[in-house]
Amino acid sequence: MAKLTIRDLNVRGKRVFLRVDYNVPLEEKDGQMVITDDTRIKETLPTLKMLIEQGGKLILAAHLGRPKGQREPSMSLRPVAARLAEMLGRPVAFVDDCIGEKVEKTVGLLKEGDVLLLENVRYYNEEEKNDPAFAEKLAKVADVYVNDAFGAAHRAHASTEGVARVVAKRGGKCAAGLLMERELKFLGDELENPARPFVVILGGAKVSDKIKVIDRLLEKADTILIGGAMAYTFKLAQGFKIGKSLVEPDKTDVAKAALEKAKQRGVQFLIPTDNIVATPVVTDKLNKKGKPVIDLNDPRTNTDKNIPDNEEGVDIGPASAETFSKAIAGAKTILWNGPMGIFEDKRFAAGTNAVAQAVVEATQKNGAKSIIGGGDSVKALNKAKLGDKVTFMSTGGGASLEFLEGVELPGVAALSDK
Ligand code: ADP
Ligand code: MG
Repeated sequence: MAKLTIRDLNVRGKRVFLRVDYNVPLEEKDGQMVITDDTRIKETLPTLKMLIEQGGKLILAAHLGRPKGQREPSMSLRPVAARLAEMLGRPVAFVDDCIGEKVEKTVGLLKEGDVLLLENVRYYNEEEKNDPAFAEKLAKVADVYVNDAFGAAHRAHASTEGVARVVAKRGGKCAAGLLMERELKFLGDELENPARPFVVILGGAKVSDKIKVIDRLLEKADTILIGGAMAYTFKLAQGFKIGKSLVEPDKTDVAKAALEKAKQRGVQFLIPTDNIVATPVVTDKLNKKGKPVIDLNDPRTNTDKNIPDNEEGVDIGPASAETFSKAIAGAKTILWNGPMGIFEDKRFAAGTNAVAQAVVEATQKNGAKSIIGGGDSVKALNKAKLGDKVTFMSTGGGASLEFLEGVELPGVAALSDK
């Protein structure tokens, strides 16, 4: 990797400003905020342990939720400090601010190997504005900057970008943590010159979210498999009827261009030939967002290339699942982003699960490298209990998508070169 990592450092006695992604889901229970999933904390432990072993004084910074510059108590990182201490098996100090005297005083007391977590950086509006004066304030306690928050690296904020610039200007080192290193290795280096055949599986809700990724991967992939609602925009572009399926009619030109590019480059481009369809019925129940709940009734397999007017495509059909699985079975490199159907409803999870199974088999039997990007794809794999059977699952969500688009992430760009 072209960027410095913590393996290249020795931080003994130094104050290490470590940006982590502790944007964990919280739930209120008896007036207290409780962490419902600590995966993000767990992911940082290898980096923390290495820096502790090196004898650094660790100052952790993170954001939680969107407090919009307010001290929103439900978005305090205090519960994270307690959970981190449990998981790390050593004390974690906490200061209820991320800049100022209190922080400087506490940092002054840190010994080698001590860990301090600062309060939510987004309690200040200056964080998201990447305000240079605020970055200077954060950097006051930093000799070295380490970024392990891949999931926030696509944002040029003060704690992800500004601080690094300040530290670097002073001659300090800015390095990637081990989680960041892994993300860059698998989403970057491994896909740069992939072992072939390279099969890309794309799904999820919208073509517009992923068009740049499709366009870039058309230059790398041998085969692209399209599922999810995204497939209906492609079907519409090919002149088929898509009934009430989720679709972006204004993106058919983009879909046509992708199909044309695939043809020119000799990329096999597969769109589902059959679908699971259901009849959407608007109910008078309201969902969390206050919108009417739509029931999906009478699911069935539709083998016709057209979907009837009053039905909605909700998953790829069994024949498509088989075609996709065969393509995946021959792969040496697999990139998967986006579920094949509305997998949250188990009636419509079969396509996603079949693809997951095929990816796992290719990984285990052929030694294919399987890389999963995208929050919901990761959720789907974990739901099927297959998360530990693939080569790599990205923690990035939006950041992985931007990285796959070929965009240089500001949080990565700000790190020192090797
Ligand atoms: P990822 O987070 O993996 O990048 P996306 O966020 O793009 O994936 O898409 C995930 C969402 O797409 C899921 O909530 C899923 O229900 C939805 N989805 C997939 N297929 C369909 C479909 N046929 N109709 C409507 N929504 C779909
Ligand atoms: Mg998503």
